[in-house]
Amino acid sequence: MASFKRSDGRKVNELRPMTAKVGVVPNADGSALFAFGDTIAIAAVYGPRLLHPQHMQDPKQATLRVNYDLLSFSVYDRKKPGPSRRSQEISKMTEYALSPVLDLKEFPSTVIDVQIYILQADAGTRTAGINAASMALAHAGLPMKNLVCSVAIGKQDTTVVADLTKEEEDFHEGEGATDFPLAKIANSDQFTLVQLDGNIATELVAEVLEMANETCAEVYEVQKKALKAGATQ
Ligand code: UDP
Repeated sequence: MASFKRSDGRKVNELRPMTAKVGVVPNADGSALFAFGDTIAIAAVYGPRLLHPQHMQDPKQATLRVNYDLLSFSVYDRKKPGPSRRSQEISKMTEYALSPVLDLKEFPSTVIDVQIYILQADAGTRTAGINAASMALAHAGLPMKNLVCSVAIGKQDTTVVADLTKEEEDFHEGEGATDFPLAKIANSDQFTLVQLDGNIATELVAEVLEMANETCAEVYEVQKKALKAGATQ
């Protein structure tokens, strides 16, 4: 809806300015930073390396193990350090979002550890984390079908909008706010994550997926550019 005014003046389908860089953690096998505006995620990849203890090994394939967390200073109310139900859920969802592009069977009995930390949070942290992790896996030189690109499409009252800020997520007028985090394999129709927090009319879902397709293509360009710049350094 052209007349809809967002609090930061963006168009309905406009992502926040993106920042992406690889090699931000030199001691990791691969690493990357990805930001949507004030939401900043870093990801570091370690492995594949033999998984210990031995009884946890899968002799048929590698185990992808993601650990997502918000740093204590990343949010307005200090976050208590350590795992929470939210961080465990996001870690699992991120594993599901990334696994389809990896050839895990190539590295049996090993673990690929992906650490994702949010330096600053202004909504969309799981999507920024997935984008950073996907770049970090590529930076580590792991064979991948393609990058995974992620965005949150949402709804404010009845208008579909891309990449909500925390202020937009907290919108309470009319039908309130809905958050729809999605991830997909770049240049494909294959979604690897579809979550929904809130309510949405069935007829708006096609609009959400269409906007996810358009905006994920923009994320992919930013990821690719950063990986190319990292390769020439
Ligand atoms: N948030 C917070 N404290 C917390 C968890 C979340 O302030 O302990 C804020 C943070 O800005 C986060 C936003 O709430 O980005 C939305 O969180 P949600 O769980 O919806 O996931 P996200 O949108 O970050 O993927």
